[in-house]
Amino acid sequence: MARYTGPVCRLCRREGMKLYLKGARCEGPKCPIVKRQPAKNFPPGQHGQRRTRRPSEFGLQLREKQKVRRFYGVMESQFHKHFVEAERRGGVTGDNLLQILESRLDNVVYRMGFADSRRQARQLVRHGHFTVNGRKTNIPSFLVKPGDVVAVRTQSRGREYFTDYSEVLNTRRAPDWMTVDSNTLSGRVLNLPARDQIEVPAFNEALVVEHYSR
Ligand code: SF4
Repeated sequence: MARYTGPVCRLCRREGMKLYLKGARCEGPKCPIVKRQPAKNFPPGQHGQRRTRRPSEFGLQLREKQKVRRFYGVMESQFHKHFVEAERRGGVTGDNLLQILESRLDNVVYRMGFADSRRQARQLVRHGHFTVNGRKTNIPSFLVKPGDVVAVRTQSRGREYFTDYSEVLNTRRAPDWMTVDSNTLSGRVLNLPARDQIEVPAFNEALVVEHYSR
């Protein structure tokens, strides 16, 4: 199961926007997107400071796809699979795509407040700390359904990370398409989110659809 292991702030710099990949640190003054003078906020790499040309239609679509993909921390092949599934479901493909990305187990664990970032949530899932409907599930791309209960595994509750975690959960607010019980360290997915319930930066998912429909 491949994952990106390089520097993550570089990804935000490449997209020219905050993608919130480092949890609480992204809100602080050390975020390079905030810290750098506007004139120094150029894309990373040897050619980052070159005079930028007007991007082609393909370039715009590609950048939008990369933004969404990097925001959710998904590799290309997995992202494409999600797109194929979004197309298959019928309705608005862009909305379906975001709904599928939101229902990934790593994202649900993050949205419930069990992790600071999607990267951390992915690691917690991979290390087998969560169950879905009572069954240990360590696949970050597992898609949860309405009614599913996601919980910290009983064996993991004694871990230092989860000790006193209910206090942390009490300080976090889950989206309204799920409920979280801080006492039992579990949460229930009430429904899959509609587009207006999904809190993401200003994405234009129609460009992502156009990118894959070329
Ligand atoms: Fe780095 Fe977070 Fe700022 Fe992105 S938003 S540049 S990940 S600190």
